[in-house]
Amino acid sequence: MVESRMYVTGGIGSVPIVEGFGSDFKLNNYSSYSETCAAIGNMLWNWRMTQITADAKYADLIEKLMYNGMLVGPSLDGSTYMYNNPLASKGKEERRDWYLVACCPSNIARTISSIEKFIYSVSEQTIWVHQYIGSKATFSFNKDNQITINQDSKFPWGGQVKISLDMSSNQNFSLQIRIPEWRYDTRIIINGDAVVGEFKPGTYHKITREWKNQDTIEIYFVMEPTLLFDDPRVKVNKGRVSIFRGPLIYCLEQLDNKSFDVLKAVFAEDPDIKTNYDPNLLGGINIIEGKLRNGKIFRAIPYFAWLNRGPNKMAIWHKIAKK
Ligand SMILES: [Zn+2]
Repeated sequence: MVESRMYVTGGIGSVPIVEGFGSDFKLNNYSSYSETCAAIGNMLWNWRMTQITADAKYADLIEKLMYNGMLVGPSLDGSTYMYNNPLASKGKEERRDWYLVACCPSNIARTISSIEKFIYSVSEQTIWVHQYIGSKATFSFNKDNQITINQDSKFPWGGQVKISLDMSSNQNFSLQIRIPEWRYDTRIIINGDAVVGEFKPGTYHKITREWKNQDTIEIYFVMEPTLLFDDPRVKVNKGRVSIFRGPLIYCLEQLDNKSFDVLKAVFAEDPDIKTNYDPNLLGGINIIEGKLRNGKIFRAIPYFAWLNRGPNKMAIWHKIAKK
């Protein structure tokens, strides 16, 4: 499923008529079904796989689904919904208030209101940090001493995370910290001292020590805008790239790119992509700008934020000039 039948957004279900899987690597962008519910079902499945296997690839996929395949479903104000989530649009799609088959709106409501269950889990003397979401959670390995974790996170706009511990007395336990597979560089600092070690992407990094009240763990995952080529077996994306930064997949929406057709855009050989935070656009987002082959500047927004300013052309995969 992940290697051959999943879109870059985490979306699954490439055949609208059956709302289901098609053949391997047949991933049409315009007709992608990628139902919001399928993304949520996939999160639930991968949460069970996380707990059974402790393999970080499942929590990595949950992160991708959460910020892309699922979050694109509702509008930013939460009042309208998409059922299928294409990866390219000729401008006909629109979110609606409600559906006769209303699975997606209700699934979104229950998933967002219970998102905390994907953040942590516990095994023997170990707390696992799976997702970087601002939160406060309490654990106890023995009934006399509770551990409260306060997490402050800049995700998805920045990779800074600060975790602090509240305990009544010192305790020996392990923290397992997920190092996302997309990361460039990672630094972990405990009480001001850098942790020496290799932080392998797509794994958990284990730290065992006697923790004290008010200990702090600062984590820095470097996020850089990056171009991604698809698997060459996906024919519709041949010679095309998508853009991601940290956990977010980006798209070009026509409204932000009035001087050219986003469905026909060709990126420069080296588009020189850069990130800027725009506090006034779509509730405050990081935009990514770069160069087309013809010298014009393109502007990309996170995929989840598209279609909040009326129907509009959109594309995730773009042609790029050959080297
Ligand atoms: Zn649904």
